[in-house]
Amino acid sequence: MLNIVLFGPPGAGKGTQSQKLIEKYKLQHISTGDLLRAEIAEKTDLGLSAQKYLDNGILVPDEVVIGMVKNKIEKHKTGGGFIFDGFPRTVPQAGALEQTCTIAGITINGMIALAVDEEELTKRIILRGKTSGRTDDQDPVLIMQRLAEYRQKTAPVADYYAKKNKYYEVDGMGTVDEVFASISKIIDAF
Ligand code: AMP
Repeated sequence: MLNIVLFGPPGAGKGTQSQKLIEKYKLQHISTGDLLRAEIAEKTDLGLSAQKYLDNGILVPDEVVIGMVKNKIEKHKTGGGFIFDGFPRTVPQAGALEQTCTIAGITINGMIALAVDEEELTKRIILRGKTSGRTDDQDPVLIMQRLAEYRQKTAPVADYYAKKNKYYEVDGMGTVDEVFASISKIIDAF
């Protein structure tokens, strides 16, 4: 079983790389952003309560995303493994993931972080906004807010994995194929 946390700021390419990784390594994709947007589209109670956070570019409360991820792990724990995309995004979420994995008998092989500078992130998000239809990809104020949330609440999660010797960083500034090759090299060594 292979279990990877794909890490990086908004616009780093986590979603794009996840699509290629799930195909190559036959993994179950868990993107908390996608799960939240699906809940919002279906107008569930969870979606209705999460919407105001997404609309303002701030993280939804930990317990909301932790609950969603727990359900997904439980459902697919006998498969080939998971790729976590956009989760964990806070240190308490990282602790909850570890606890859930221990209970499910799963080990995270490592966190792979995509390093991209903020100027490039902003460009990529605005470009994505032209086709994604995501309002949080189109408003410069919201983009800045999301990057600020990342710096303040999410960046410390890298340390959590570094302390466990499970942190790997790749240059995320290259082409999609170059970044994919760098990630695959790390995974193949697990
Ligand atoms: P993303 O699609 O990963 O960029 O996420 C879009 C939005 O969903 C974020 O700006 C947050 O409001 C929310 N979100 C996604 N994943 C998480 C998470 N792990 N923890 C808290 N909020 C999240």
